[in-house]
Amino acid sequence: MNSALRREYLAALGLETWVVRGKSPLPSEAASPDAPAAREAPAPREVPASREVPASREVPAPREVPALRELAPRDSSAAREAGVDWPELRARVAACTRCALCNTRTQTVFGVGNQTADWLIVGEAPGAEEDRQGEPFVGRAGQLLNSMLRAIGLAREQVYIANVLKCRPPGNRDPSPGEAAECLPYLEQQIALLKPKIMLAVGRIAAQNLLRTDVTLGRLRQQVHRFGLSQVPLVVTYHPAYLLRTPTDKRKAWEDLKFAREVCARV
Ligand code: SF4
Repeated sequence: MNSALRREYLAALGLETWVVRGKSPLPSEAASPDAPAAREAPAPREVPASREVPASREVPAPREVPALRELAPRDSSAAREAGVDWPELRARVAACTRCALCNTRTQTVFGVGNQTADWLIVGEAPGAEEDRQGEPFVGRAGQLLNSMLRAIGLAREQVYIANVLKCRPPGNRDPSPGEAAECLPYLEQQIALLKPKIMLAVGRIAAQNLLRTDVTLGRLRQQVHRFGLSQVPLVVTYHPAYLLRTPTDKRKAWEDLKFAREVCARV
């Protein structure tokens, strides 16, 4: 990606390039995806300075949290959906009546993207627009997600995007534990088919359901979790809808994306 295009995507993230007055940026900084962090305003950093590694140096091994977040095997997951392919799984989801959300949905929102993707992006549930269009992450939040991915060199078409729930909770309420438990086997089977190198959980609800925890998103960020029997590395960041409401946290999301990119490069 050329530097002008990358700057455009970073600008969409609210990470416009700027320089200290009277000091010219190095050419490599102006074009580098790491440049915004290097030019960050002098606010306290959450991430230790040692994690900000110049491109020319080796990236340190990400911290891992192996045991706490592991999703234990369930007889309702792989076993229930064993042996299905993509079309069969899509058909099963479209006909699903496992929870009451089947009564209020316009349609199921199965997921979209490259079925051989390295990256799996997982949100919580379809919203009103997703319910209408049948595709996850559309509208303004979807556009911001696209920009976030572009900023780390990924087109939307290169990743796979899905939600924990395939049907919209009325009024955009949070999914209930029962709904999540009923629907997660579908995502697990999508993961079994996709075999991603990395999962990016966007938003607190998605992260907490995937990791079976009530730990805050702030504490789940910047760590490598492991999901399910396949032990897929999982990184947590903010939901783009939240970032639209709270643009001051876009820089943290940028740190998370870079972190995830480092993790993926090591898989
Ligand atoms: S949310 Fe999931 S489990 Fe519930 S009806 Fe929809 S597809 Fe089935």
